[in-house]
Amino acid sequence: MNRIAIVTGGCRGIGLAVSRRLTADGFQVVCGGRRSEEAVADALAEIGKEGLKPVYIQCDVSQQSEREHLVNEVVSRFGRIDLLVNNAGVAPKERTDILSMSEESWDYVVDTNTKSNMFMTQLVAKVMVSQSITGRKRGTIVNISSCSAEVSSPNRAQYCVSKAGISMLTKVYADALAPYGIFVNEVRPGVIKTDMTKTVNDKYDKLIADGVFPIARWGTPEDVAAAVSVFAGDDLLYTTGSFIDVDGGFHIRRL
Ligand code: NDP
Repeated sequence: MNRIAIVTGGCRGIGLAVSRRLTADGFQVVCGGRRSEEAVADALAEIGKEGLKPVYIQCDVSQQSEREHLVNEVVSRFGRIDLLVNNAGVAPKERTDILSMSEESWDYVVDTNTKSNMFMTQLVAKVMVSQSITGRKRGTIVNISSCSAEVSSPNRAQYCVSKAGISMLTKVYADALAPYGIFVNEVRPGVIKTDMTKTVNDKYDKLIADGVFPIARWGTPEDVAAAVSVFAGDDLLYTTGSFIDVDGGFHIRRL
């Protein structure tokens, strides 16, 4: 039986690479996203080349009714959920100093990134705890947080806080769900070349040339997908509430 995976934001950037990788790993992937199915047709075709044809369900993860619709649809079609990858996320629409950040911008980023993670995981975990074990686990949840969970950027504090919140949710859910055989882990990307980082392309090109990362290049969505694949598989059975940095060594303190 194929394992069933939900990837939020699964048709663009990091999420697209994760969907492709998991499909290649043998999962039946269900992608969620804000755009219409027609708008993501090319991405779905790309994912399908790796294995099983993906399913797309339009879902704004910041809306509880849409989160419920996504989860209910997957359960009614497939009867179970083996893997949830909480990937969907946003950066602030504008970078502004913490002293002038608006409440609206805070709510937009924290609601989309952290509140959605909390309640999407809650919905899926309720399905997982009542299902049988396939392979060696009852379920797996992988959160895409960021190096920003640890690194301060005063011009996008809401993003940093939203990702630090995801890191704590990873630990709390890992703790709560371990007795059921459900594993919850986190991947922390550094600077990855996607639509999200387009606006700061030149800034990071220069920083990379100046040696900011020990591995002197941009990260790719495929670098992140490879780490998700490790957590999604059945090899790490004594690891939960943990994270993998996919950041070219950026987390290393240097002198
Ligand atoms: P992109 O902007 O390229 O893609 C974002 C994805 O999230 C899209 O698929 C988008 O859906 C989806 N999304 C955004 N808001 C919602 C929403 N409300 N409901 C449903 N889906 C939504 O970003 P990346 O691929 O770069 O980022 C993916 C994740 O990785 C994010 O959580 C981001 O914070 C994180 N990350 C990225 C880094 C980077 O350097 N790029 C570094 C560290 C972390 P749609 O396609 O339908 O618009």
